Amino acid sequence: MAKVTFNTELCKGCGLCVGACPKKIVCLSESLNAKGYHPATISDQSACIGCAFCATMCPDCVITVEK
Ligand code: SF4
Ligand code: SF4
Repeated sequence: MAKVTFNTELCKGCGLCVGACPKKIVCLSESLNAKGYHPATISDQSACIGCAFCATMCPDCVITVEK
């Protein structure tokens, strides 16, 4: 199973990864990081197919996908 992790403090909440996910499981968190942004997170880890589209799209290398 694929595992997606986010370096939350680097995220600027731009949402590019949200739109990139074909499974629609990446979303922005309700909480804020130290910079005051809503960081990206995953709503359903078990649904991830490990395509890494989210990680490829992120301009700040926040996302790591492991298979
Ligand atoms: S690896 Fe693919 S399926 Fe998994 S969260 Fe990222 S874009 Fe979505
Ligand atoms: S693309 Fe990167 S910086 Fe933008 S919301 Fe997603 S994880 Fe955060």
